[in-house]
Amino acid sequence: MKFSLFTLATVASTASAFTSSFTKTTPVAAGVANSDSALFMKYKVAVVGGGPAGACAAEIFAQEKGIDTILFERKLDNAKPCGGAIPLCMVGEFDLPETVVDRKVRKMNLISPTGVEVDIGDTLKPDEYIGMCRREILDKYIRDRAFEYGAECVNGLVTSIDVPEDHKTSESQYTINYQEYQEGSSAGVPKTMNVDLIVGADGANSRVAKAMDAGLYNFAIAFQERIKIPDDKMAFYEEMAEMYVGDDVSPDFYGWVFPKYDHVGVGTGTVLNRPAIKQYQKAIRDRAGDKIAGGKIIKVEAHPIPEHYRPRRVQGRIALVGDAAGYVTKCSGEGIYFAAKSGRMAAEEIVALMDGGKKLPTQGDIERTYIAKYDKAYGPTYAVLDALQKVFYSNNGAREAFVELCNSKYVQQVTFDSYLYKRVQGNNPLDDIKLLGETIGCLIKGYATAKPDAEFSNPIESQKRI
Ligand SMILES: Cc1cc2nc3c(=O)[nH]c(=O)nc-3n(C[C@H](O)[C@H](O)[C@H](O)COP(=O)(O)OP(=O)(O)OC[C@H]3O[C@@H](n4cnc5c(N)ncnc54)[C@H](O)[C@@H]3O)c2cc1C
Repeated sequence: MKFSLFTLATVASTASAFTSSFTKTTPVAAGVANSDSALFMKYKVAVVGGGPAGACAAEIFAQEKGIDTILFERKLDNAKPCGGAIPLCMVGEFDLPETVVDRKVRKMNLISPTGVEVDIGDTLKPDEYIGMCRREILDKYIRDRAFEYGAECVNGLVTSIDVPEDHKTSESQYTINYQEYQEGSSAGVPKTMNVDLIVGADGANSRVAKAMDAGLYNFAIAFQERIKIPDDKMAFYEEMAEMYVGDDVSPDFYGWVFPKYDHVGVGTGTVLNRPAIKQYQKAIRDRAGDKIAGGKIIKVEAHPIPEHYRPRRVQGRIALVGDAAGYVTKCSGEGIYFAAKSGRMAAEEIVALMDGGKKLPTQGDIERTYIAKYDKAYGPTYAVLDALQKVFYSNNGAREAFVELCNSKYVQQVTFDSYLYKRVQGNNPLDDIKLLGETIGCLIKGYATAKPDAEFSNPIESQKRI
């Protein structure tokens, strides 16, 4: 990707040691087919977590017949708390049927603290849209595809992992401890499984990350209510999503109303003042006002959203992907595409390193491939969106300026190109310079006219930055 510094800012404004490998010599063991062709056990790869990251990793491993792939998922009908917005490119790139998309959003209203509205979807072409999904549908579709390719399903909660001290220098196996759930029973049966390599795709509260000592990250708490609104009101959200900015709905993020198949998802998030999340949730309901009046809350959900990468994403033969690694962009809070992409990318690189299941990769191998390629592709997107969130979501003046800027067709075009296709193209240096002037003008105007942010005190959590 080629970026000018300022274009980077506009792009992101709405929305991205050991040198030798081990060779498999493990002799045939109990339980392994006793034929000449099966003199050696296959290496076992465990993918922990069956969300987009884990499912996309498992389907790649499962297609390599020289590797045994096991996918652990604690809840096969999991409905991950999520807005469910996915970029258009994900549908084609991950071969998703349109049935996983509940709504095609073609209008995206951005609403300022003083109620100024801008349709930032104005430049979308007729065949372009933002997909709105229910995660229980999307995740199940990709996960089932991994099982069809041959991944073994373990419906179980991974409780801990025994990591041998010498795992960076030997082929010692990892022991996964888990509670397996049998059909018809909610009580888990404690079990263990030895595996050769682990992909941690178990989300923001990752137990794999804990077991490998990946380190901590800051996180936002995001809250969402699924609200069933009357049909006439639902008609308004047919192709419409709304993003509200203001210190009333969040001191550092945005509130949203996203349409789902027969209801809307109404939510918000914050890092700075997590204890007040319910107050911000009430405010987003109030801001949406009459548009969701008479609605019935059918589900309340909350979950952490990582703010940045974990300090360590690979240790020995354990690699993290998706939220477990910390791959959510600031500003937009987008993580589904990056989870799917990182899961697929990590698996493709590891499968190539394993050379048909003949050898195990080292930590250095995985870092030089998966980690280096991921960071090269998406590192700039994370950095720019981080900077933009700091500039535009920090106070009401900046938020007013942000909404005004988004009136620019150029900003909309560049923004949607980067969001929908995860690429930047056709940036015009003259437009960039013009935009820089407009940005400064909008910021000055915004600061001069906006009401100051409400003060809050959250001394314990706010100061606890990692
Ligand atoms: C309220 C909210 C709104 C959001 N809105 C959007 C949005 O609109 N668009 C967007 O792109 N992103 C959004 N995100 C972010 C997005 O949800 C995540 O980035 C994405 O789900 C990450 O996918 P993942 O596969 O890495 O992890 P997850 O989706 O969290 O999946 C982890 C899976 O692992 C399983 N699991 C966890 N622990 C264990 C264990 N110990 N043993 C076995 N299984 C386990 C879980 O059941 C789950 O299925 C939102 C997040 C929140 C909280």
